[in-house]
Amino acid sequence: MNPASLRIFPNPILRKKAQRVTVFDRSLLKLVAALVRVMKSQPRGIGIAAPQIGTARAVAIVDVSKREPQAERLILVNPVILETREPETRKEGCMSLPDYTAFLKRHRWVRFRWQDTQGEFHEKVSTGIEAICVEHEVDHLNGVLFIDHVTCLKTDLLPRPREKGNE
Ligand SMILES: [Zn+2]
Repeated sequence: MNPASLRIFPNPILRKKAQRVTVFDRSLLKLVAALVRVMKSQPRGIGIAAPQIGTARAVAIVDVSKREPQAERLILVNPVILETREPETRKEGCMSLPDYTAFLKRHRWVRFRWQDTQGEFHEKVSTGIEAICVEHEVDHLNGVLFIDHVTCLKTDLLPRPREKGNE
């Protein structure tokens, strides 16, 4: 098997709905490790979903500690958003669409449920950037990309200048 690498739009895997995880075994742990490795390889990586490394399984990582030092890494298996509040329009990007950012509506308050790598259920309320990142990653698991939320691609989609360290 090839080492995990980031899939870039318009790779069709990014449009596939991810399958629920039902077996909590070593292959799940390997997938989580691969996701963490690829996320960390990206200078702006604060979250990643399994389809982004070519695996249509419902697993995502959210780790906004680069922006909020007290944040903990969330390993989300089968995450489901239960409730959203505090809609906000803000600029967003995605590692799989490295050339663009866009203004779109997200929520600064999200209540969600997920399973850990043992299959245990958890529920949490996230706020701020973490909430927005959870929404973004759950979207990925449904084959939805941030550009789908943009109402006018002509005015709201912005080219992103390349930064140092972003190949
Ligand atoms: Zn993304």
